[in-house]
Amino acid sequence: MSLASNPMPEAKPEPAPPPVTRADGVWSSSALDWITYGLYWGVHVAALGVLFTGVTQTALVLFALTFWGRLFGITGGYHRYFSHKTFKTSRAFQFVLALLGTAATQKGPLWWASLHRIHHRESDGPGDVHSPKRGFWYSHQGWIFDKRWQATRLDGIPDFAKYPEIQWLNRWHFVPPVGLAVLCFLVGGLPGLFWGFFLSTTLLWHATYTINSLSHVFGKRRFETDDTSRNNWALALLTCGEGWHNNHHYYMASARQGFRWWEIDPTYYVLRGLAAVGLIWDVREPPAWMKQTNLAEAPAPTRKAA
Ligand SMILES: [Zn+2]
Ligand SMILES: [Zn+2]
Repeated sequence: MSLASNPMPEAKPEPAPPPVTRADGVWSSSALDWITYGLYWGVHVAALGVLFTGVTQTALVLFALTFWGRLFGITGGYHRYFSHKTFKTSRAFQFVLALLGTAATQKGPLWWASLHRIHHRESDGPGDVHSPKRGFWYSHQGWIFDKRWQATRLDGIPDFAKYPEIQWLNRWHFVPPVGLAVLCFLVGGLPGLFWGFFLSTTLLWHATYTINSLSHVFGKRRFETDDTSRNNWALALLTCGEGWHNNHHYYMASARQGFRWWEIDPTYYVLRGLAAVGLIWDVREPPAWMKQTNLAEAPAPTRKAA
């Protein structure tokens, strides 16, 4: 489906996109776009390789570990930590979260989180990174190849850009995925590589993208936020809790996105487990009234909760 018939509000001429910098790595230069395109679609085609390699028990275990492990790297790491700082942790475990997120092949933590902060600030307005008002496919994956969003916005994420090891991962973001692919091959041979890396990475990409596309189109709106975010239980199951997106847009400071007991939020449960063993702390919760069923008195949403 396409929402292209519902155009964006009239906007002023856009300024030229910021150039990629050393923080992005030289391969982010637009002269090398064809390599990025080729790799992106090449991984999709390679995912079909599972039809030819057959399946082994090891391959299935690798698939489960690389899909859910890296999904947590995105939801618990890139999103709830680097974008929104919904809990605190040590510098060492912060690096582990960044490494896990980078392994998901969604570029570096500073790029991902700095653009996500823009998404919340400009939700569904002309300056939004991936509003479905620009069309379904643009919000799903087209924006990733849009020149406007190639550069890491270092000025939007000074709180993490100050760490040289995080800057390094942002610049060398392709190293963890390549390392993971090699590891999958060494552990599980060709079935391990194709299930544990190519298929897992492709499904992980599109599971993540549904939050930018479908979660702003399908589902229920509990809170009257000034964007199109929705709560969608199916997407919450697919993405380990990110589908409670209307809750999240209303109160992005919370590590917990499923506000009610029945709103399954596996990322939050894992974060609670990590807090129980002392790896993270100060896990932020929604206020008690937000978890109640009667929200008639709900205050207006704020965009300053990050
Ligand atoms: Zn967010
Ligand atoms: Zn959103």
